[in-house]
Amino acid sequence: MPLAMEKDPFGALGCWSTRRPYNLTPRTQLRSCMSDCLFCKIIAGQIPSKKVYEDEKVFVFQDINPQAPVHFLIIPREHIVGLKEATEKDAEIIGYCQLIAAKLGREYKIEDGYRTVLNVGPKSGQSVFHLHLHLIGGRDMTWPPG
Ligand code: 5GP
Ligand code: ZN
Repeated sequence: MPLAMEKDPFGALGCWSTRRPYNLTPRTQLRSCMSDCLFCKIIAGQIPSKKVYEDEKVFVFQDINPQAPVHFLIIPREHIVGLKEATEKDAEIIGYCQLIAAKLGREYKIEDGYRTVLNVGPKSGQSVFHLHLHLIGGRDMTWPPG
């Protein structure tokens, strides 16, 4: 193996498990390669999904079990377990996910009413432990949510 790769395996090769290149910091690369995580596998293309949007920070895809005409999952590329595990360094990406929801809300013409939802912990219904923001819209909503 060339010396450059030994010194900087992530920079040269991308993710060690997927071999996909990343244009991210080494810390983010490590945290984005959680090989047992369903959503990390979706980001890596190892599990198929219906992609809606992606950029260098987030990946957005259709929920497999939609609860409304529009039901997208907005996920950071970086593996963050959930909101209660997040720390101050995650503040920007969590806010960024909300702004991507607003952008998609405009693009998908659901601005007359949509919800962004973070389920936090098993009692809330969180079933995937890679932070994800639900964007749900395109129908009337009830309050309080169930
Ligand atoms: P949670 O319940 O953790 O807040 O949300 C997880 C969401 O992921 C659920 O709405 C569920 O339908 C969705 N989901 C689970 N597995 C898959 C999958 O393999 N593909 C897609 N597109 N969505 C999934
Ligand atoms: Zn993950």
